[in-house]
Parts: sequence; structure tokens; C-alpha cells
Amino acid sequence: MKQQNPDDPTHTPASPRLPAVVPRSAPPYFHILAKPTGAACNLNCAYCFFLSKEEFYPGSRFRMADDLLETYIRQYIEAQRTGRVTIAWQGGEPTLMGLDFFVRSVEYARKYARPGMQVEYSIQTNGTLLDDDWCAFFHEHRFLVGLSIDGPRPLHDAYRVDKGGRPTFDRVLAAARLLQKHRVDFNVLATVHAVNADHPLDVYRFMRDDLGARWVQFIPSVERVNADGRTLVQAGRAVTERSVRPEQWGRFLIAVFDEWVQHDVGRMYLPLFEGMLAAWLGGSAGLCIFDETCGNALAVEHNGDVYSCDHFVEPDYLLGNIRDQHLITLVAGEQQRQFGRAKRDSLPPYCRACPAYFVCHGECPKNRFLDTPDGDPGLNYLCAGYRAFFAHIDRPMKMMAQLYSAGRSPAEIMRLFLPGTVRPEALFATTGRNDPCPCGSGRKFKHCHGASRGRIGGS
Ligand code: SF4
Ligand code: SF4
Repeated sequence: MKQQNPDDPTHTPASPRLPAVVPRSAPPYFHILAKPTGAACNLNCAYCFFLSKEEFYPGSRFRMADDLLETYIRQYIEAQRTGRVTIAWQGGEPTLMGLDFFVRSVEYARKYARPGMQVEYSIQTNGTLLDDDWCAFFHEHRFLVGLSIDGPRPLHDAYRVDKGGRPTFDRVLAAARLLQKHRVDFNVLATVHAVNADHPLDVYRFMRDDLGARWVQFIPSVERVNADGRTLVQAGRAVTERSVRPEQWGRFLIAVFDEWVQHDVGRMYLPLFEGMLAAWLGGSAGLCIFDETCGNALAVEHNGDVYSCDHFVEPDYLLGNIRDQHLITLVAGEQQRQFGRAKRDSLPPYCRACPAYFVCHGECPKNRFLDTPDGDPGLNYLCAGYRAFFAHIDRPMKMMAQLYSAGRSPAEIMRLFLPGTVRPEALFATTGRNDPCPCGSGRKFKHCHGASRGRIGGS
């Protein structure tokens, strides 16, 4: 599909209106990551999958025009058919737009929000440009700020450097302190790569104890090497040496999980672990990567181009431009619906037969570039790690799910993991079938954890 010329002065400022009849295929709610500076960033993180996307817009200034900002906010709000909308900014580095841009974004959101509509804001930033004015603004408008930091100094600085190759740890730490001073809600987004993946507890404890973060998200770094040796698009079976290895990812998750389940349930919020509990309770993990289908998490570029997903900002996944078509038309269109269904329809039989299928669903399509042991294409690169992780958490997840189902707090599981106590597995091994269950449910063991002998996820 043809790329737009982002700075074409003859480009129409037309602003398509909401169709009189919303397409039936339109989801009631969807999420968009807006990239007002495109891939432009003041840092040069070695593993960044987005920096090279500048190549798709040669000659661009990488700044979202003000009329396009208003068009985007209006269309995005019009397209949501729920009473709540989250306007999410990302990059590149979105703060390069300057604070006034975001002040105007809030004004436009107020202008177009329907009566009673709840508008929330989030921004993902490397933090290096934040100051008191930014943080006061975030506090006033209750932005949820995602701060990218990969762990303590040597682990963070391994790849997160500026354009001059200088480390950035001190600047990011200063940003975290500023956010705390202004009482801004922030979560930490840590990329797990070949270097920090071998230090899971150093990373996690740094976030919790030194940084004082309460929301932590871990993202595995998987950089596919294209045929020309670059990492521009999602193609190729080799990965860079910076990428986390599958078993390493599994060990990382397991180590952090063990720490969390012993000390931090209900105190530290990790979307991955919260999602696991939801899945073990029979619902959705609430993360697109673990859903059966996807397609409701898109990306909009600085010039209004809309792509199927933040991870697929490349020509084959360009849906159109919001200057030409209303956002709802692009989101509901067959190209995007097909993109979402393909996540399910392309899954190899090996995954469908997997005991962890109910929670994993083959994870994100961008990582599915291995062959299964049966020779089918489409196995997830991270599969070995996920399999180990899902098997490891099965027992504690069942316990937490049972606590929850009994109207109790899943955090009670920590009693069973207190330092110096017998591990639950050992405790269960010595509990009689008719004894009270050691989890404290009040039920007989055979009707509680003694009954859990099924497959992963079975109760
Ligand atoms: S491609 Fe991956 S990240 Fe993108 S929406 Fe689908 S599951 Fe989510
Ligand atoms: S753990 Fe592996 S085999 Fe199982 S569903 Fe996930 S990717 Fe497929």
C-alpha cells in the first residue's frame, strides 16, 4: 500500500465525519497508541524496534500537525461506543512534541467527549525530558505515565543510551523522583533482553525497593533479523544477540513470580501475573498477546496513517489515513478484522493441543516464526520459556483462584510461602485426604487443594 507523504503541503486537511451507520464489524471499544513524533527519539536504545521506522517517512519532520491532533482526538472519541476512553501517547519519544501539544490534546478531548464520558490519559516516555511543569500537568490531568527503565544502573545502561552513546540511568532515575514528588501515577516498563534477563531478582527488587514502583510491566525483547541483516520489519527466523532467549525468558518470569508470590501479591501489580490469575479463573488474561484473537490495539502515526498494531508499523499493515477515512472505518475494515482473526486461524495444531493453550493462545503473532516439532510453521519463539513458566505457576495459580472463588483474597497465598515455612508442595504431600486443607479454606484437603491433580489450569 502506498505511503502518505507526511509533509505534503497540498495534502487535504479534510476531516472525515463519523459514518451515519457504524459498520457492524466495528468493535465497541478499541485501543490506539498515538505516535505524534513517529519514530523520532532523543535516545538511541540499541534494541529499539521503532527507531528504524523513520525510513518509512523520508523527509518528514515527524511532528503531528495541530489540525490532525484535533481530527484524531475527535475521531477516536466518536469511534468508541463505551463511556470510557483512554488517549494513549507513545513514540519514539512523545515529549519531543513539547508540553503545549498535550495541553491542547486535553482541550480537544474535553471539547469532544460526550456527556458523562470518562476520558483517561496515558503516556509512555523515556523520562529524560520531564521537568516540574510536565509532572504538574500529568498530576492535574491524572495521566498514567509509563517510564522505561530496565533495572539498576549497569543493566539499564547496557542498551539504553542517548544519541552520543552516553548512559541514561541517572536521567531516568531523576524522572522517577520528579514523578513521585508530584504524586503522578507511573508504572515501569522494563524491556527484558539478553543482559538483564539473567538478573531477574536484581531487576525486580530494584523496581520495588529502590525505585518504589508498584506497577511493573516486563516486555521480552525479540528482534528479528531481516534478510538484509536489519530489523526493520517482522520477518526472518534469526534474532539479534540482544534478544532474550526463550529459556532465559522462562527463568526470568519464574524467578520474579516466586518472589512476588512470597511477598508481593496485592502489593505489586504486574499485568502479566494479574492476567494469569484471570485466565486460571476461566476468563481472559486481559492482554492482547494472550487473547485468542486480536486486532483492537492499533497505532496511529504522526501524519494520520493507521497501522494494525504498534508492532506492525510497516507498509503491509497500513490501513489508511484518518485524513481520508474515519478511524472507525479503518478499524472495522476487513483488512484489520482479518489481521485479528489470523492470530487464531494461523495457530499450529501443536499449540491447540498444548496444556497451556487456554492461557497462551500462541502469544503474539510477531513472535511466531519457529516450526513446531511436527514441522508446522507458526510456533512462538518464546514457547519454551512460556511452557516452563505456565507449568511452574500452575499450582499457586490454582490456589489463588480457589481463594478468590471462595470470596477470599488471593494474597492469602503468601501465608503458605512465608520464609521459614514448609513449601506448599511439601505441605500438601504430608496432608491427609480428610485433614483440613493447609491453605486455610476450612474445607477438607480432598475437596480443596487435594483435589487439584488435573491438567494445567484444571481445578
Ligand atoms: S500483533 Fe501482538 S501486540 Fe499486536 S495486537 Fe496482536 S497480539 Fe497484540
Ligand atoms: S506455550 Fe507454546 S505450545 Fe503452548 S500455546 Fe503457548 S506457544 Fe503454543
